Amino acid sequence: MSVRPTAALACGWPLRLVIASANPHKAAELRELVAAVAPGVVLLDRPASVPEVEETGTTLAANARLKAAALTAATGEPALADDTGLEVLDLGGAPGIHAARYAGPGATYADNVAKLLSELAGRGAGIGRRARFVSVTMLRYPDGREIAAEGVVEGTIADAARGATGFGYDPVFVPDGSDGRTFAEMRADEKAALSHRARAVQALHESLTEAG
Ligand code: IMP
Repeated sequence: MSVRPTAALACGWPLRLVIASANPHKAAELRELVAAVAPGVVLLDRPASVPEVEETGTTLAANARLKAAALTAATGEPALADDTGLEVLDLGGAPGIHAARYAGPGATYADNVAKLLSELAGRGAGIGRRARFVSVTMLRYPDGREIAAEGVVEGTIADAARGATGFGYDPVFVPDGSDGRTFAEMRADEKAALSHRARAVQALHESLTEAG
């Protein structure tokens, strides 16, 4: 998916953007990824006073929009949001957009990973463990103009958690193009060379610079 910018957006990256993600791991990745493609952009921290946004949308883009719109309304600044899902082929696309609460409300990363591994128990390393992360990154202005871009990485769910970096499902996701390590066994720059979020940020940047 790629939402084409309107002419009014054809001005390159704005200089100041507030991060719309309340997840500190994601916010840290977004900071590094944006610094790499658009070093002139100042990313403002999400104010702690803004309540966490309920993700009631049925698509990644809808949930990214809910988060971005809440932050533009609260701060008057353009906002950068990210919404991410993990789709496992043999689980009919689950956990999907419900990745954060796969093991139930209040689930920890470890709970979600444990549930995923138990759902896949007994399946060999073949097609049954194929999966992909999909990220939608959205830049939204206070007046409602917005542009979004998608990034995807395909891979395989490992048979056990491995590694200590990253977050979420990183310990069980082995991206295609890696040497067999999970994202959680990689340095941040190695994950950024392959990740869904890096590809989404790159695509968003390309759309904005093409438009400019
Ligand atoms: P959200 O709905 O976009 O906040 O993210 C849903 C969940 O997906 C998060 O709570 C994480 O468990 C997982 N997730 C998002 N991005 C990543 C990633 O880059 N690596 C591993 N897990 C992720």
